[in-house]
Amino acid sequence: MSTPAYSASADLTHYINGRPQAASSGRSQAVYNPTTGAVARQLQLASSEDVLSAVAAAKAAFPAWADAPPLRRARVMFKFLELLNQHKDTLAAMITAEHGKVFTDAQGEVARGIDIVEFACGAPQLLKGDFTEQVSTGMDNWTLRQPLGVVAGITPFNFPFMVPMWMAPLAIVTGNTFILKPSERDPSPSLFIAELFKQAGLPDGVFNVLQGDKLAVDGLLNHPDVKAISFVGSTPIAQYIYETGARNGKRVQALGGAKNHMVVMPDADIEQAVDALIGAAYGSAGERCMAISVAVLVGDVADKIVPKLAERARALKIKNGMELDAEMGPIVTREARDRIENYIGIGVEEGAKLVVDGRGHKVAGLEHGFFTGGTLFDEVKPSMRIYKEEIFGPVLACVRVPDFAQAVELVNAHEYGNGVACFTSDGNVAREFARRIQVGMVGINVPIPVPMAWQGFGGWKKSLFGDMHAYGEEGVRFYTKQKSIMQRWPASIGKGAEFVMPTSK
Ligand code: NAD
Repeated sequence: MSTPAYSASADLTHYINGRPQAASSGRSQAVYNPTTGAVARQLQLASSEDVLSAVAAAKAAFPAWADAPPLRRARVMFKFLELLNQHKDTLAAMITAEHGKVFTDAQGEVARGIDIVEFACGAPQLLKGDFTEQVSTGMDNWTLRQPLGVVAGITPFNFPFMVPMWMAPLAIVTGNTFILKPSERDPSPSLFIAELFKQAGLPDGVFNVLQGDKLAVDGLLNHPDVKAISFVGSTPIAQYIYETGARNGKRVQALGGAKNHMVVMPDADIEQAVDALIGAAYGSAGERCMAISVAVLVGDVADKIVPKLAERARALKIKNGMELDAEMGPIVTREARDRIENYIGIGVEEGAKLVVDGRGHKVAGLEHGFFTGGTLFDEVKPSMRIYKEEIFGPVLACVRVPDFAQAVELVNAHEYGNGVACFTSDGNVAREFARRIQVGMVGINVPIPVPMAWQGFGGWKKSLFGDMHAYGEEGVRFYTKQKSIMQRWPASIGKGAEFVMPTSK
């Protein structure tokens, strides 16, 4: 199997009905290489007509695809899986080139996305219904799940491969047709995914890519033929997507932003906690929705741990992510870098203790890259903006609390509830933490507890709008609707009209 056609220099277009399609808007936007700061290519942005064209293609492909036996759909997914495994390093390099995260981390992203494709290959099993024999004499009742129709996924910049894989494989394998609206900042993986689906034998129109901005998103939100929207991104946009989609009668799952805490108890292994905090706060330059951005240091932990964190934050290997020993690459855009550095200034003004200042970090030979260093604050207070707001960068805020009860209270009072971790060697503390904490994904001595493909991903509070989590069995339920069928045959039907509520006889 050859490498799919992919030109690193060409304009990036839509991919509709099995082929690249130029945008009709005449609008475009630069895509950068954050490592050098140079414009890498142009992304064509959708017009309203392009939205109609993508939805029409997906709608036309739906009846035949929904009718295909699940096993046949799963076989396409198996082929897709094989191709992904074959091209996984190409994908990882593509991610590093536009996002900036280090190559080894991009490889991890690709691997976690592939996990979900593997899960989707089990569609025939996942779509099995429930059957009850003899609910009344001569009568059976069963439920089955059927696809919704055209569904759309709107994804963020920080996982340009993995987050689309949270959505498209399950949506498609359950019989829907799909439109991906990827982030404008790193759109190349979306087209590569489309090419691989095509090579895997997916019929034209089943997976489409619509490039664009708010205009494209609003077009999908307002189109009556789009039956469901999966969104992952920042909280204000997640809330907007949820409210608008619901008003328009769509199913919506909208995953939002985060401010993830890691509680370190006095009985924790301090070296393990330091390793965990450094990796989880500065990995992917903190641009992960499951990054740890707050260290909650209980009792005397702060005095032991802060000097070690400072030493490690200062020593981070920040460089071109394609260098294999790189620990942190650049920030995705200049604006995002400036916003992060602005937050550091706010933290200083608010009176937090700036222990390590990453602002103005330069990498030799890459002076125009969008780099910033690792930043560490101590003595951060819950009233400060750097505590309350999502910075989405390599900035770790340490908050000191006297005891476990106050650590739990602090976490539970935060408006976000995506991920959380507790480092301890006490099983009772761990158990109590897992039970009491008001957060969707909990790690006990695990700093980034991203659930596995079959478990489902989702936060609580302002980190998720909607009822169902992404992927796992909840993902299957999100992309299908349940139908209940009751059946009997003439020999079991008694004579005469019945005017009472039917009951089991
Ligand atoms: P973003 O909200 O800016 O963009 C996400 C998507 O929404 C993009 O496709 C973008 O084109 C679109 N969009 C942006 N503004 C819009 C508008 N006004 N109207 C309609 N659509 C709009 O998010 P981002 O900066 O790409 O990603 C980072 C954010 O995503 C962070 O807040 C992070 O916590 C969050 N995130 C959350 C999860 C999760 O699982 N909860 C996972 C990854 C990222």
